[in-house]
Amino acid sequence: MWSNARKSILVLGGGFGGISTIRALQQALHGRTDIEIALVHQENSVVFQPMLAEVISGTIGLLNTVTPIRDVCPGVTLSVRTVERIDLDNKVVITSHGFRPAPSVLPYDYLVLALGTLDNFGVVRGLQEHGLHFTNLGDALVVRNRLIHLLEEADIEPDAALRRRMLTFVMAGGGFSGVEAIAAVHDFVRDVARRYPHVDPADLRVILVHAGPRILPEWLILDSRGVIGQVWRNRLFLQAFPGGHDRCGIFGKSCLISSA
Ligand SMILES: Cc1cc2nc3c(=O)[nH]c(=O)nc-3n(C[C@H](O)[C@H](O)[C@H](O)COP(=O)(O)OP(=O)(O)OC[C@H]3O[C@@H](n4cnc5c(N)ncnc54)[C@H](O)[C@@H]3O)c2cc1C
Repeated sequence: MWSNARKSILVLGGGFGGISTIRALQQALHGRTDIEIALVHQENSVVFQPMLAEVISGTIGLLNTVTPIRDVCPGVTLSVRTVERIDLDNKVVITSHGFRPAPSVLPYDYLVLALGTLDNFGVVRGLQEHGLHFTNLGDALVVRNRLIHLLEEADIEPDAALRRRMLTFVMAGGGFSGVEAIAAVHDFVRDVARRYPHVDPADLRVILVHAGPRILPEWLILDSRGVIGQVWRNRLFLQAFPGGHDRCGIFGKSCLISSA
């Protein structure tokens, strides 16, 4: 896989950052045969995260959110593995093993770190236990399946109080992804609830919990009050916690989705 004569650039992580870096390098190094580029990524495709909300509502085909990395970055050596360790002294990256029970050791001359971020579940009590992640395609499917499961259970649940809890959906985080995702949840559950004869649409509660005086804080130029008005008109509830995360706890067992 690696030739000794050539210099190697090893990119870790094939998200937006990693793929953009590779494409820029390929353009800059076009025609050079003395440098090779390799990528370690957990999957062989890159997910277009801005469309994940539509996966929840089912308004987009699953495969439309992913693109094979080999198509986007032809000529790059891809290892579909998990990075386990970086040995800076010896300039090697150690990845998880595949079918053979031995890790692979990838040498590099130049290393690009683009491993993304971790969800911050520590800021809200109860989030770790009850929350669902919402970062990749698998997460979006888990959320969608959970919504369907709750509607199915609610339809045959005789206890009215428990049924209302099953029909309460909470999203933590009023940034772009949180607002997009809660809108998708709202549209989806209200749309499909009509097919469940024992689910009263009046029992559906879709709540966005946000730590701050206004949602969409990234939206600096435009005023988010218009969005809030829209949210209210659509019977989607907002719960703001201007005092900070410490005043907010999630203890229910219904469906909590986090994009915080
Ligand atoms: C639902 C959602 C909607 C979004 N919408 C928008 C939007 O509309 N506009 C916008 O600008 N931004 C949006 N974002 C944010 C944007 O997607 C991120 O800022 C961007 O993905 C960050 O790119 P990245 O390369 O740093 O990390 P990532 O895209 O997270 O890529 C890192 C990759 O590294 C991989 N990785 C991590 N650890 C390892 C390991 N140990 N071994 C191997 N691989 C590993 C991960 O699988 C991951 O795919 C959205 C995010 C989400 C979750």
